[in-house]
Amino acid sequence: MTEPMFNTVAIIGLGLIGSSVARGVKARGLANHIVGYDASPGVRRRADELALCNQVFGTPEEAVEGADLVLLAVPVGATADAVNAIAPHLAEAAILTEVGSVKAAVIRQVSDKLPPGAVFVPGHPIAGTEHSGPDAGFAELFEDRWCILTPCEHSTDAAVAKVTAFWQALGSQVEIMTPEHHDIVLAITSHIPHLIAYNIVGTAADLEEVTQSEVIKFSAGGFRDFTRIAASDPVMWRDVFLNNKEAVLEVLGRFSEDLAALQRMIRWEDGKSLQDLFTRTRAIRRGIIEAHQDTDQADFGRPHSHED
Ligand code: NAP
Repeated sequence: MTEPMFNTVAIIGLGLIGSSVARGVKARGLANHIVGYDASPGVRRRADELALCNQVFGTPEEAVEGADLVLLAVPVGATADAVNAIAPHLAEAAILTEVGSVKAAVIRQVSDKLPPGAVFVPGHPIAGTEHSGPDAGFAELFEDRWCILTPCEHSTDAAVAKVTAFWQALGSQVEIMTPEHHDIVLAITSHIPHLIAYNIVGTAADLEEVTQSEVIKFSAGGFRDFTRIAASDPVMWRDVFLNNKEAVLEVLGRFSEDLAALQRMIRWEDGKSLQDLFTRTRAIRRGIIEAHQDTDQADFGRPHSHED
């Protein structure tokens, strides 16, 4: 147990990420009080049953009243609504932070709604699963993961240091970068891989000469991993693509060119180029394992907690 870093942490949005933060704060004693709010009455009820917070409020303004850390964990597209509801009720000393998977668009949504003097530290824990909702969360989700903070004009050095210490206390390593750089890095490491998974699973479902039962029966050959990613929350991912449009389209253009090059290698039976590429990509996998961002275990049936 650590000394409480905050008196009251208010969490707005008690799904996978919000409930994991609540559990982590509770497990590590990082706050004297944890309070919460979720737009869904069912989620609020479930959060009460799971005792995620000391108190779950029926309105966002009650939840943030007097809180010294307010964490938004709502889908990126709901950020503006959530900030509109809480902004006039933030305590003077409050730090507002959030966990959205896209940064520049979220900062735009939040910035013009903040009262003068409000302090805001945008962030993104690179941790998640393909599950959503309050039952999917767990206290250890952020352990040995990265959390990226992208300070903006409303961030102070002291608040960035405090939010950094908060994520470190939850078990993460923290890196600071600009929102624009975050969005391009995440486009290639997370957003495009999800798009490819959604696309390949959609293509397989539409292939007329392959039956649905064959897709399921023979899925172990690589396809299964794509189906896991393509089962990720539809609302969250719709919002990611709509809000990281420029970076995703830029990286997608590059991806399409590389795919066309692969197509050519296969057509012209250029085995050397294929083998060279596959050798390079294998080295990247080794690098990820050496950086402890995945294990070398065979994949089947092992838990996944490092997606986003
Ligand atoms: P989630 O499990 O679907 O939880 C989001 C919750 O927010 C839902 O219960 C939703 O209620 C609620 N909500 C929607 N609008 C709201 C509002 N205006 N005020 C209060 N609550 C509201 O999603 P999640 O996976 O935790 O994702 C939350 C955020 O974390 C997203 O911005 C996402 O980009 C980011 N993130 C996700 C991951 C990941 O892998 N899942 C990883 C890192 C960051 P309804 O269901 O009724 O809409």
